[in-house]
Amino acid sequence: MNVYLEELIRDKKKETPNGKVADYIPELKNVNADNLGIYISDISGNKFFSGDFDKSFTIQSISKIMTLMLAIMDNGEEYVFSKVGMEPSGDPFNSIKKLETSTMKKPANPLINAGAIVVTSTIKGKNKKEKFQRILNFIRKISEDDTLDINYRVYCSESRTGDRNKSLGYFLKDQGIIEESVSETLDVYFKQCSIEITAKHLATIALFLAKNGKNSKDEQIIDPKTVKIVKTLMYTCGLYDESGEFAVKIGIPSKSGVGGGILCVVPDKMGIGVYGPALNRYGNSLAGISVLKELSNKLNLSVL
Ligand code: GLU
Repeated sequence: MNVYLEELIRDKKKETPNGKVADYIPELKNVNADNLGIYISDISGNKFFSGDFDKSFTIQSISKIMTLMLAIMDNGEEYVFSKVGMEPSGDPFNSIKKLETSTMKKPANPLINAGAIVVTSTIKGKNKKEKFQRILNFIRKISEDDTLDINYRVYCSESRTGDRNKSLGYFLKDQGIIEESVSETLDVYFKQCSIEITAKHLATIALFLAKNGKNSKDEQIIDPKTVKIVKTLMYTCGLYDESGEFAVKIGIPSKSGVGGGILCVVPDKMGIGVYGPALNRYGNSLAGISVLKELSNKLNLSVL
């Protein structure tokens, strides 16, 4: 398997020049655009990897699935989904347009920025420091690495420039969907997006989801029902407005981030983490998607 992955990464690396590293958060552009790596952890304890699987990058939107789990544990499913929908949006990740026009009167789902900012606003804690610390602790726990922390340069870069997210936050507060302080919520959101991880961490978290919320010691960390909600939303909404095509061609519940990571959950079988910061026009790792397409076909990983 490792030999196959070596060949796959070598081959797909040729596609990285067709993508573009995200630069709307200025600090994100300081990476090697041709990095590409994969890590697979399967249910029997096997590990397979190749390429830049241990290079650190920021988790970005992949953190949205972690905050969703924590928010459901904190507030219950009903409360969280009274503030955010469960529908694919068909719009870019940071789109603002449907917030005012949709009859739903709330963000379409928790995996677009507007929905994720709302979800973060519901995380419990006496102040922003405690809220963020709870998110970080949760991600440390499910990635089984206590050393994870944020990349301060990326965090500062986004809090300085994230005007689009700030607009989403203030609009949602005006609508009564966010009840907490917007500036504090955004600070927690920018920090959660700046947590540094590797493809190996993504595979560990993905395996935890593949095992319906059990860690490597088989301890049940979260309720399987919450995991099911998260996996279903990943399948329908996890790749921005490329989610439909990804579901048809690859068929694995996944979540991408503009840092170049993709976390993929093959239920009851394996967790896969991919890293490739050169993105396609939807904001997903271009070569990463290509790697997953080939892997899914070869190993027959599509869930449907
Ligand atoms: N921090 C990024 C933002 O809110 C995350 C976006 C993403 O990965 O899709 O713009």
